[in-house]
Amino acid sequence: MKVGLSDIGTEGLHIVTIRKPEWLTNIPELVRDSEDMHLSSNIVFDLRLAKILKEINVSGTIRFSIGSLCARCLRNMDLPLSPQVNLVLSSVSTPQERNEDIDFETYKGEEFDLGNYLREIIAMSLPVKVLCREDCKGLCSNCGANLNLRICSCKDDWVDSRFTVLRDLKI
Ligand SMILES: [Zn+2]
Ligand SMILES: [Zn+2]
Repeated sequence: MKVGLSDIGTEGLHIVTIRKPEWLTNIPELVRDSEDMHLSSNIVFDLRLAKILKEINVSGTIRFSIGSLCARCLRNMDLPLSPQVNLVLSSVSTPQERNEDIDFETYKGEEFDLGNYLREIIAMSLPVKVLCREDCKGLCSNCGANLNLRICSCKDDWVDSRFTVLRDLKI
């Protein structure tokens, strides 16, 4: 996603663009259509660029959805994500004041490519574990019932069934 310095006028530059999942070459496993975590939508970029002296501010949002199974109840679900972009591009690499909300990069010449940076933002925004809801109760480890939908009757038997296993082992 290349931008020329001359494209950024005094009013700044507003970029709205869409990329296919295949654009995410840094996370190829996300592109495969499987039940594991995968991209279930195109990637929509809404970015505003502004030139301030020798620095370029890039801010905006990336929107996409990932499909995944809930880690607890295995329900298929779609999770919309919208990581924020907050980047300052500088032509000179000066030590910047530490600000955790803003990234700093340098550029050379009259053109820069935001692609790798944006790919990284997407990679970092992915959840380690997807849950259909915070308090998902998951599946009963005994009968497999979805405990969000119904309470099975296994709970009372849990202790008993564990003893059964021990008894079987001895035999
Ligand atoms: Zn769940
Ligand atoms: Zn059960």
